[in-house]
Amino acid sequence: MDYDVVVAGGSVAGLLCAREIAARDHSVLVIEEDYEIGTPEHCGGLVSTSAMDDLGIIPMRATLDNKIRSARIVSPSGKDFTFDARPQQVIVLDRREFDKQIAHQAKVNGAEIRVRTSLREITKDGVRTSDGDIKCKIIVDARGVSPLINKDRTGALQSAQYEVYADWIDKERVEVYLDQKKYPGFFAWIIPTRHDEAKVGVAGRGINTATALEDFLKQKGKHSTVRKIFAPIWVKGPIKEFANGNTVIVGDAAGQAKPTTAGGIYSSGVGGIFAGKAISGFLESGKESRLQEYQKEWSDKFGKEFGQMLLARSLLERLDNKSIDDLFESITPDVLSEISKDGSFDFHTTSVAKLLGVKGSVKALQAILGNELRRFLG
Ligand SMILES: Cc1cc2nc3c(=O)[nH]c(=O)nc-3n(C[C@H](O)[C@H](O)[C@H](O)COP(=O)(O)OP(=O)(O)OC[C@H]3O[C@@H](n4cnc5c(N)ncnc54)[C@H](O)[C@@H]3O)c2cc1C
Repeated sequence: MDYDVVVAGGSVAGLLCAREIAARDHSVLVIEEDYEIGTPEHCGGLVSTSAMDDLGIIPMRATLDNKIRSARIVSPSGKDFTFDARPQQVIVLDRREFDKQIAHQAKVNGAEIRVRTSLREITKDGVRTSDGDIKCKIIVDARGVSPLINKDRTGALQSAQYEVYADWIDKERVEVYLDQKKYPGFFAWIIPTRHDEAKVGVAGRGINTATALEDFLKQKGKHSTVRKIFAPIWVKGPIKEFANGNTVIVGDAAGQAKPTTAGGIYSSGVGGIFAGKAISGFLESGKESRLQEYQKEWSDKFGKEFGQMLLARSLLERLDNKSIDDLFESITPDVLSEISKDGSFDFHTTSVAKLLGVKGSVKALQAILGNELRRFLG
């Protein structure tokens, strides 16, 4: 046997998984098809500091781009509300540096990493890669959304995200723009990274994301675009089986990104950690049931919240622009202050319920959304 474990995919989930396996003295190799860990970066980098604690990472100076103080949400006709995001302690990571920081943690524990090596095929006793065959006991699939979308296109949305310089960017404020015509089922976003710099993106069902983003930027005003990426996001929740035979699936490849925002640094990262611990347990005990425990542990932590997020998604997808505008009319300062005080960035469906449940709006929304709304509001 060449290694106990081969991890395919050297990003947040795969590297955290390898870090945990190496910490228990098992041999683990991470193969990454790109030329460099952390690139090409395709992430907004928005994450809470409590999530970073759970992932066991203290961001280094190079890893931390920015701190967020408020969030502004804008309706299709331009109505808006802003809430204080300071209690939620949200930061913006430089994903290129962040992934390298985890790679370093994994290496310190004893993991090996090889870039420009891609998984071609899973075999009976290991993997076939672009660099030849490697024998191992367990294969971890941490290849992100692509393998998932190859099996099921219905859970994917296309996204575009540009890195932009502009003087209309507020360094401390994230912005979200809702418009079911322009970005059906999703939204446009501005995530500030530094003074006058931001990641500006759009996603939506069946749209030309490049055109939608160019239009959005044109409306915002003068800007310079210094980088463009186009990437799919997964909004359909977790897959049925995280472990099958000698293969364990982690991170976005297992559908572990949030169905509301497609944010996955935290939930996919935790998937990697839980899987790494379960795989170590299996290698030490020989009991296959240890591999199944990873799915249970992840579901115990995120299952209920992801269920609510899927429900929130199906409700919001059915709202038209007028209903969203009406909803904005009913939001009071008290609701905003409650969201700011009690809301959680990682488990945010309680905040969505507060917004959907505001006085005056429920009746109107119930006419459109019916029983599902009642179920969501609990
Ligand atoms: C535009 C955009 C913005 C986002 N913004 C945020 C945000 O602000 N906050 C947040 O929490 N999340 C965000 N996300 C989601 C977040 O990026 C992912 O949830 C997270 O990176 C998932 O990590 P992962 O390790 O599962 O997969 P990925 O990060 O997708 O990594 C998969 C890795 O596998 C490698 N790979 C693929 N195929 C092979 C192969 N055959 N062999 C070897 N290696 C392979 C890839 O090169 C890649 O490095 C965003 C996503 C997008 C697209």
